[in-house]
Amino acid sequence: MGLMNYCPRCATPLISKLDGGRERSACPADGCGFIHFGDFSIGCAGVVLRDDRALLVQRGWQPFAGSWQIPGGYVEHDEPLAEAVEREVLEESGVTAVVRDVLAFRHLLGGAGAGPSTNMYVVFRLEMVGGDPKCDGDEIRDVGFFSLQEMERMEAVQGLSKWAIEKALLVPHGRGLLRDQLGPGATRPGWQLFGVPH
Ligand SMILES: [Zn+2]
Repeated sequence: MGLMNYCPRCATPLISKLDGGRERSACPADGCGFIHFGDFSIGCAGVVLRDDRALLVQRGWQPFAGSWQIPGGYVEHDEPLAEAVEREVLEESGVTAVVRDVLAFRHLLGGAGAGPSTNMYVVFRLEMVGGDPKCDGDEIRDVGFFSLQEMERMEAVQGLSKWAIEKALLVPHGRGLLRDQLGPGATRPGWQLFGVPH
C-alpha cells in the first residue's frame, strides 16, 4: 500500500487505527470517517469477433509498446463498467460494438511488477455493430481483425488476450455472465449486475 499522510477528503493528518482486524491509515477529524483501504483500479477489455477473426490493437506506448492485445483500458470512477468497455473499444479501434456477456475477470495484487494498484480486469464479449478498424497511429500503432492462425505468426500477442479470444470462439454467445436489468438494484443509479445465465 502506498504512503498516504493526509486525508484526501479534508487534509487532516492521518493516524493509524485498528479497523477490520488490521492497522489502517484513518482520518481522526470529526464527521469525516475516511479510512485508506488501499489503492484499487478497474480495467476492462473487449473481445470483438468478425467471423473467426478477433479485433486486436497494437500498443504504441510503453509499457509493452509493439505488443498486440484486445482493446481496453481503465474504467473511470463515475463510469458504468459496460459503458467503459464500449467506449474503450471505439476509442482504440474505431469499431462500434455493444456488450453481450462477460467472459472472464482477472484479479492482480498491487506491488512490485504489478504497479501500485490492486487491479480487477474484466473481459467482455461485444457484438460489432459498425465502423471500420482505424487508429490514431500514436497510442495505438495499428489495428485489425486476426485469426488464431495469423496470431501464431505475430510477435507479442498478449497471452491473456489470446486466452480470452479462444474462449469466445469456443463458448457460444450468451453463455458468459449476462447483464440482469430486472434484478435487485436495477433501478439504482450506477448499478450494473452480471450473473450466470438461466
Ligand atoms: Zn478527513
